Amino acid sequence: METIGFIGLGIMGSPMAQNLIKARYTLVVYDIIKECVNEIASARAMAAASALEVAEKSNVVITMLPDSPDVEAVVFGNNGVLTGIRPGSLFIDMSTIALATSKKVYNALQEKGVESLDAPVSGGDVGAKAGTLSIMVGGSDEAFKRALPLFEVMGKNIVHIGDPGAGQVTKTANQIVVALTIQAVAEALTLVKKSGVDIARVRDALLGGFAQSRILDLHGQRILERNFKPGFKIKLHHKDLGIALQIARELGLSLNNTAQAAEFMNALIAQGKGELDHSSLILLVEALSGLTE
Ligand code: NAD
Repeated sequence: METIGFIGLGIMGSPMAQNLIKARYTLVVYDIIKECVNEIASARAMAAASALEVAEKSNVVITMLPDSPDVEAVVFGNNGVLTGIRPGSLFIDMSTIALATSKKVYNALQEKGVESLDAPVSGGDVGAKAGTLSIMVGGSDEAFKRALPLFEVMGKNIVHIGDPGAGQVTKTANQIVVALTIQAVAEALTLVKKSGVDIARVRDALLGGFAQSRILDLHGQRILERNFKPGFKIKLHHKDLGIALQIARELGLSLNNTAQAAEFMNALIAQGKGELDHSSLILLVEALSGLTE
């Protein structure tokens, strides 16, 4: 079995790494937050002091980091992956990051004789814990085949989309659909609330019809419970819509509703709510209609 390096042990990375440990892989783990490392460190998850050490001690290095600058820091920074990784190793970035950064990382690793994959995920912390993530992969056939046993531990719907970067393009499409669906659910449930009709019963009714969605199901429940603990942070989804709008600008596309959802998230961040779950978008929709907590 390959030794797996895992960098970024947050809401997603921690349960993904735990599932690899349960599948009896040996891990070398690192996060800039020491408590995140301590929580997972064990006989089969050796704590490393840097990304460099992770790369030196593993055959496969997985990253699950917040944003493009974080992946750049981990790969290119002092004590970074690029310095320690050996030719013949495999690098898998499962973070959601800018296409340009993903390709820059791919090219730098190729020069070192290291294959890499962009493999962002969907399914949230629930899917990460259950090992049922949807994994969207860009890179060579050979690298995909090598990574597949690991993906099968972390996910269920695993699709090799195409060339390097294709995974990130897919994830961007995913984030547009998710953001606009949250906005639709938020507007619908705000209408229901202001009408004085029972939101729980409306959710039940809608879940059996054409308006059914995982967002209405899981986030509808969060909204009912007023539970906006992340989950997926508003600030990270805002980052993803920024990636979508950047790609749209480069391709000459006009994504009006994506831009509006990004502005809504911008407003929530400005109000100090960037750390809340993205289902909290309803707070802004409600506030615009004069509904407060
Ligand atoms: P998170 O903020 O909970 O975790 C990220 C972890 O990376 C943190 O523990 C942080 O300390 C660590 N980190 C940051 N910079 C680092 C560095 N330089 N070196 C080492 N560790 C570093 O974020 P998350 O929710 O786990 O998301 C991770 C990625 O997965 C993001 O790109 C996000 O968009 C994507 N994603 C998240 C979800 C979700 O539901 N949370 C779902 C799908 C995809």
